[in-house]
Amino acid sequence: MPANELVFAPLGGIGEIGMNLSIYGFGDGRRRQWLIVDCGVSFASEEHLPGVDLILPDIRYLIEERKNIVGLVLTHGHEDHMGALLDLWPRLKVPLYATPFTAALFEARRLSEPGAPQIPINIVPLRGHVTLGPFAVEFISVAHSIPESSALAIRTLAGTVLHTGDWRIDPTPLAGAVTDAARLTALGDEGVLALIGDSTNAIRAGRSPSEAEVAKTLAELVRAAPARVAVTTFASHVDRIRAVAAAARAAEREVVVVGRAMERVVQVARETGYLDGVQDFRGTESYGYLPPDKVLALCTGSQGEPRAALSRIAEGEHPEVTLGKGDRVIFSSRAIPGNEKAVDHVINGLVAQGVEVITDRDHLVHASGHPRRAELLDMIGWVRPKILIPAHGEALHLNEHAKLARQAGVPDVLVCRDGDLVRLAPGAAEIIDEIPSGRLYKDGSLLVEADSRTVASRRRLGFAGMVSVALALSERGELVADPEIELIGIPEADAGGAAMADIARDAVEEAFESLPKPRRRDADSVAEAVRRAIRGAIAARWNKKPVCHVHVLVV
Ligand SMILES: [Zn+2]
Ligand SMILES: [Zn+2]
Repeated sequence: MPANELVFAPLGGIGEIGMNLSIYGFGDGRRRQWLIVDCGVSFASEEHLPGVDLILPDIRYLIEERKNIVGLVLTHGHEDHMGALLDLWPRLKVPLYATPFTAALFEARRLSEPGAPQIPINIVPLRGHVTLGPFAVEFISVAHSIPESSALAIRTLAGTVLHTGDWRIDPTPLAGAVTDAARLTALGDEGVLALIGDSTNAIRAGRSPSEAEVAKTLAELVRAAPARVAVTTFASHVDRIRAVAAAARAAEREVVVVGRAMERVVQVARETGYLDGVQDFRGTESYGYLPPDKVLALCTGSQGEPRAALSRIAEGEHPEVTLGKGDRVIFSSRAIPGNEKAVDHVINGLVAQGVEVITDRDHLVHASGHPRRAELLDMIGWVRPKILIPAHGEALHLNEHAKLARQAGVPDVLVCRDGDLVRLAPGAAEIIDEIPSGRLYKDGSLLVEADSRTVASRRRLGFAGMVSVALALSERGELVADPEIELIGIPEADAGGAAMADIARDAVEEAFESLPKPRRRDADSVAEAVRRAIRGAIAARWNKKPVCHVHVLVV
């Protein structure tokens, strides 16, 4: 067994968008030391996972290996990279490392959660270094849709890995960093064994437009607006907040911040200097006093989140902020896959109130934070890796990134999935094992395993309702009272007008009568016969089978 084996395994984020968590291992294969990169969430859709708020990576493998983990490094402060820490860190309690803005944003997020545990973070300066066991980690600045996104150069005795995190190239960002091409080229000169890279936009040709161009469009749209203006964007997109603030200032409008997440980020960005030179913003209490052409509402809710500011405004339910005929709403964002319906719902609510809605379908009001194909090629050109593993994407994105890398001459391109253990050195890249991986659901205040039956049965209940029956039997197998039957979430009557409750009652009685007398004394047989009869009778009238619970009491 080689003593200096370097391995990589994604526990989330490869083969799906969101829930990023990768681990690097160094050792002789029997005993490895591990470095964790990121610990993010995905957002559940109400339709598929009713009642589930978040999806988290299953870290049972890391809990087992806890003693061998040297640290957890965050590439940046997006929820898909750090959103699982509040729930999962207490199970690991490993040292955490992040740059100042990421750490401050995490702390603000933590304090917003009542009863959240204390979680200490070690702050690494921008472009800083930290050595954790066998891993020497260098933070390299990259442009992205949040301040301080960093690619990580991870140096080991077996070679150097570049873990890009989320990045793009933007030669003219507003206040955020540019991608440090010089540092990445120097790293390439030094020699890079493997590049683990962002594939989100690998299917899109060319380059993303610059934040400066987006800022110009926003300024024009705000200037030309006849009445009130509201802009929604990702709360953590500080460059975009700056663009909106500049647009408002040029049009002599006051910025009113609407939504807790936006307030939180604005405060953190002020404290860390990312809003230096930007005018003061106002609270929602001033909204009603400002003339329509003197106000701009900067709102949360760009993803159609039902409790966020813009959804409540669209429903006419916000206590202080209203919009109406002639007002303009700009979505300076794009719906994350899975959120399209929710966003359309908000747009329709606004349009129905006479509000003009502008999105990136008609104007350049958004630019993605991820690299398109020409940018991916630049990165490969700078770093010149021996191995490339596409990350941060669904199967389609990973495959396109892989194809592009092969065309660009990367000698060893490997597509893997969550749970694959990939050997990066020595020898050619190879999947050598599978480690336990999967998903956890945040269900209310609890974490449940994704394969537990609770959410599936909740979905069934939501689809076809439930019948609950209670029967009291004597020891001789006679019904001692009328059955108690309750129907929940089932239509009141069938197409012919017959009450479903009566249909259920008849089914119970018939099922009981048709059982041979000796079997009527067996509670389990009675329960099963009644259950089948009710489901059958209701399905015959409704074409759907409800969940059916039968309780038999022998008295
Ligand atoms: Zn991401
Ligand atoms: Zn990101």
